[in-house]
Amino acid sequence: MAICPVCDDTAEIPVGTPQFKMVDCPGCGHFGLDGQAEAQLSAKLAIRALVSHRIRLSNERKEEIDVTAPMLRVIVESYQLPSISKQKDSFMRWFGGELLRIGQPHSPFVVREPRRISALIGAAPPIAKGGLMYVMKALFVEGYISPLPNLYADNIQMTPKGWERCEILTTPKPSAVPYSPRELPMAIDFLNSIWGKRNGEPLLEIRSAEITVSLGLPSANFEEFKSRIGDLAELLRWIDVEDAQLPGGAEINRSEKLNRLQACLQASTVDSDRDDVGVAVGALKDIVTVRNRLTHKGSPELIGALARLGIDFPIEDYASAWDGIRAKAAEALNLIRKVVQATD
Ligand SMILES: [Zn+2]
Repeated sequence: MAICPVCDDTAEIPVGTPQFKMVDCPGCGHFGLDGQAEAQLSAKLAIRALVSHRIRLSNERKEEIDVTAPMLRVIVESYQLPSISKQKDSFMRWFGGELLRIGQPHSPFVVREPRRISALIGAAPPIAKGGLMYVMKALFVEGYISPLPNLYADNIQMTPKGWERCEILTTPKPSAVPYSPRELPMAIDFLNSIWGKRNGEPLLEIRSAEITVSLGLPSANFEEFKSRIGDLAELLRWIDVEDAQLPGGAEINRSEKLNRLQACLQASTVDSDRDDVGVAVGALKDIVTVRNRLTHKGSPELIGALARLGIDFPIEDYASAWDGIRAKAAEALNLIRKVVQATD
């Protein structure tokens, strides 16, 4: 049996060359791995658990993933392994869901695919060293499962206290910053009016009512998310900075809307506001990157842009991801408006 280069446990490698391998791992899942990434993994034990966890999350969402060296770099820069307390919560959510799915919430239960569950909650591989067992024992000590497991083949049961914990964990929390659907259109209008006063015409000429309306709609699934962020990226293409507004001598292609905006703002602002311009235009560029890379299986650019926008990869909740994107877009446009106002 072959060894999975990510979790260092047994796996099948149906296609394997020094340049590229396909791996079928009972822990991590099904994924592609290029030779450069494999070399980096063998040198860095510390990132294996993190990468195994990310691959498993993608697999559970039926998203294909190819692990490359640039992607490893972004994963390490953008994410940490979940803490033990987060791993316990993930286990409880998974365990409660399984018991309800089989319709036997009171029954003794064996964790039949410990390597898969270990990678799912982010416990450190290999399974023989017991990262998942540590989490299960901790849950016993706290009274959430019973009896004390010693082997993965042992039966465990959810206690009534465990079910109470599950209830709390699976009740949707109201989002910390509730998003109002008017926020983004208001930010656009406000920026346009300030820009228009200074430059004689709006920064962003509204060309389609349909696209503007789409900004106020929710997103329940991948297809809707793709469509909404596509509309938002299209709207950002309406940004138009005239040649005369660019700093002298700057030649930036007319199609590079956001680069032209950044150059124009940076030329007209004082030092202290330049960072704000970078942050705000950077967020808008990240939104365009998410839209352009959304269907590329786990591209490093996508993972990096999502992380900077405060959205987890793979995206688990398309409703809150869309709220997060809209809130970031509104925040960026408001920041740009403040910078423009400050130049008066
Ligand atoms: Zn593996």
